[in-house]
Amino acid sequence: MADPRGFLTVRERELPARRPVPVRLQDWKEVYEARQSGRDPMLKAQAGRCMDCGIPFCHQGCPLGNLIPEWNDLTYRGDMADAIERLHATNNFPEFTGRACPAPCETSCVLGINQPAVTIKNVEVSIIDDAFEAGLVQPQQPTRLTGKTVAVIGSGPAGLAVAQQLTRAGHTTAVYERDDRIGGLLRYGIPEFKLEKQHIDRRLEQMRAEGTRFRTGVDVGGEGPGSLTGQQLRARYDAVVLATGAMVPRPLPVPGADLNGVHFAMEYLVQANRVLEGDAVPDQITAEGKHVIIIGGGDTGADCLGTALRQGAKSVTTLAIGKRPPNERNGETHPWPTVPFVFEVSSAHEEGGERSYLASTVRIVDDETGHVTGLEVAETKYLPDGRRVPTEGTEKVIPADLVLIAMGFSGPEQHGIVEQLGLDIDRRGNIVRDDEWMTSVPGVFVAGDAGRGQSLIVWAIAEGRAAAASVDRWLMGATDLPAPVEPTTQALSA
Ligand SMILES: Cc1cc2nc3c(=O)[nH]c(=O)nc-3n(C[C@H](O)[C@H](O)[C@H](O)COP(=O)(O)OP(=O)(O)OC[C@H]3O[C@@H](n4cnc5c(N)ncnc54)[C@H](O)[C@@H]3O)c2cc1C
Ligand code: SF4
Repeated sequence: MADPRGFLTVRERELPARRPVPVRLQDWKEVYEARQSGRDPMLKAQAGRCMDCGIPFCHQGCPLGNLIPEWNDLTYRGDMADAIERLHATNNFPEFTGRACPAPCETSCVLGINQPAVTIKNVEVSIIDDAFEAGLVQPQQPTRLTGKTVAVIGSGPAGLAVAQQLTRAGHTTAVYERDDRIGGLLRYGIPEFKLEKQHIDRRLEQMRAEGTRFRTGVDVGGEGPGSLTGQQLRARYDAVVLATGAMVPRPLPVPGADLNGVHFAMEYLVQANRVLEGDAVPDQITAEGKHVIIIGGGDTGADCLGTALRQGAKSVTTLAIGKRPPNERNGETHPWPTVPFVFEVSSAHEEGGERSYLASTVRIVDDETGHVTGLEVAETKYLPDGRRVPTEGTEKVIPADLVLIAMGFSGPEQHGIVEQLGLDIDRRGNIVRDDEWMTSVPGVFVAGDAGRGQSLIVWAIAEGRAAAASVDRWLMGATDLPAPVEPTTQALSA
């Protein structure tokens, strides 16, 4: 146990300071002041609050089963070499989760029952950042090659986790990605101010040195130049893993949704990320000088907000159809240790914009030249069957030059590789897998959002690790690789 009296002497959470809003809006860098090193007294004090509980519920909260009390203890003692070893034992990419994970571990921290939870996520990111700085993150080349080959389709966190695990197990592994750069939503979805792309590049260097091969610009199941069919891949490789994500956006079924100036969040965010990578984006969708409305109050909406504010929007309003969540956990509906439904203030929300709840979009208003000029909204009414509809007589028009639809995703693409291989799809539109992560086609596996539906980085990594274990077993008859989750594992719920 880190410090037997830590939770009694330090009763508050302390996190690195965020840079002042006017300063951080001038750039795209991460919002935090320079991070402290592992020997920072604040980090030591926070790690020291961990009680090393007999049943550490944080292990259940974290889909990866991260060994949180162990690395809290090692951080408290300043043993960074062992801390990164224990962290990497369960998580291939703590630099991604330590920055962008919503930290369900913290909402299940036992200390959280009557005190603010341990700052687990910040300890995690500090361990990995220090480890990279100290040269402790080195390639782990396989000790022998198995002669087996694996193709991974998709280079988001699920595909990268599968590939790293299988490469290290000695299989010759190639990652195929339709985009021009590796990273999936880490690269082109999540904005730089939440996850600077240098962290992806640094990890890719390690993966390349270990032997993972990357092929960008290859649309598997597509038709363009350089595309490959699913059958070609199956013939060329001993196993194929689909980690293709779930990026079909949920549409807004109202009149005017096809007007100029109305875009899905991902069209907008991808372009903004491309510009920061140094690409020329002709006719970029930008919020500069515009009144912006974001439809959807979730994390993707918050990413659009932070992006629009940095581009110099005149105003940004986020509309959510539902009720404003309460400030505190409702112990009846969301008891500890489940993830609570509470009002969240992300770094983007601190930076500006308005948030409006119980706002139902009725139609998008045309300026008569085919361009959006406003949004007609009405107050949401809940029907007895749970449906949410606009209340007649409460309509009003809010001016808008740019409308961003951030209402979530309906699942993976159903054409292309899915159609070519004839894969079964479940009633939610996700690719069906058995309890060994195999699709309806032998030798073809699926991991991440493509099988689970749009989820979180931590789930994608956990699924990637577990699917790699199944692939290894399928190829070799046995495996030593860990499987932190099963295909049906769900987040802790009441
Ligand atoms: C805007 C946004 C912000 C988010 N922010 C967070 C966050 O802060 N924290 C968090 O935990 N989660 C966040 N998420 C969710 C998280 O990013 C995803 O759950 C995670 O990236 C899923 O990983 P994946 O590997 O399954 O798929 P993805 O990351 O979606 O990667 C799939 C990859 O497959 C490629 N691909 C698809 N089809 C083909 C094909 N036929 N051939 C070749 N390549 C193909 C795609 O181009 C893509 O690169 C966010 C999601 C979005 C949309
Ligand atoms: S990956 Fe997420 S849930 Fe797991 S320890 Fe890190 S912040 Fe917590």
